Amino acid sequence: MGKIKKKKAKDWVDKNKSLDVEAGASRAAVIEPKSVAFHCFRCDCTKHAKRQFVWKTSQGDKLVCNGCHGLLTSLARSR
Ligand SMILES: [Zn+2]
Repeated sequence: MGKIKKKKAKDWVDKNKSLDVEAGASRAAVIEPKSVAFHCFRCDCTKHAKRQFVWKTSQGDKLVCNGCHGLLTSLARSR
């Protein structure tokens, strides 16, 4: 009678936090006229949005979504 392990909401478990230490690095907003698909480095999945952010990290430029940008910004402020 094994317990079925339910996967928690993908929202916070599967984030790629490997570069969160660089939350303070600059991010430039890229705003498209209409929704485009792009891969959010931090969510590690495909997002559809008009707005994306180019995050300048030591590992190169990473694309992140609006949600991750907000989170990283507050993370950088709390340091
Ligand atoms: Zn994201």
